[in-house]
Amino acid sequence: MACDHDHPEQPLEADDGRPDVALDPETLARREAALRQIVQFGDPVLKSRALPVSDFDGALHDELERMGRLMSDALGIGLAGNQVGLLKRLLVYRVDEDGPVQVLVNPELEWSSKETEVLEEGCLSLPRVHVDIERPLHVRVRARDAAGEEVLVEASGLEARVIQHEVDHLDGILILDRAPRDQRREAMRALRELDLA
Ligand code: ZN
Repeated sequence: MACDHDHPEQPLEADDGRPDVALDPETLARREAALRQIVQFGDPVLKSRALPVSDFDGALHDELERMGRLMSDALGIGLAGNQVGLLKRLLVYRVDEDGPVQVLVNPELEWSSKETEVLEEGCLSLPRVHVDIERPLHVRVRARDAAGEEVLVEASGLEARVIQHEVDHLDGILILDRAPRDQRREAMRALRELDLA
């Protein structure tokens, strides 16, 4: 499957007419089921700030595992706690299809580059929305892993973009909030047609 580097969270969308995306019915059904469990636009949890995690216990482990599974089933490349109704500072991502799911708990953007890039992004909570977002090209993030151990991530390109997109979710910020005004207006119209706005 081709890797589309332009769409954090939604690299492969069934309805965006890309000729290289041919999903079999089983994959599509699994994706639909996953999307039904992911909070969609209009739910106030997406506009809320998530709280730091202090208990690195079995429950946290289970939540992160579920998030990783939902993200994969939804054919996404990132997912934040808010998107599964958890106001906890948790995110998972996987930019390399064959790589492991990465987990960041209590992520803090410690540094971001002055150099930026504009790319189109989508979001598993915003069906059919694609907007151009300008973001720093490189970031350094301090976080904890599922066991509570400190991790330092230096990321560039798509990985840096996904992390920033998910940290935004944890702060109650959506791509609509960062989109150019005309694109935001168009996206809101599309969401209204889906009865989400
Ligand atoms: Zn998103």
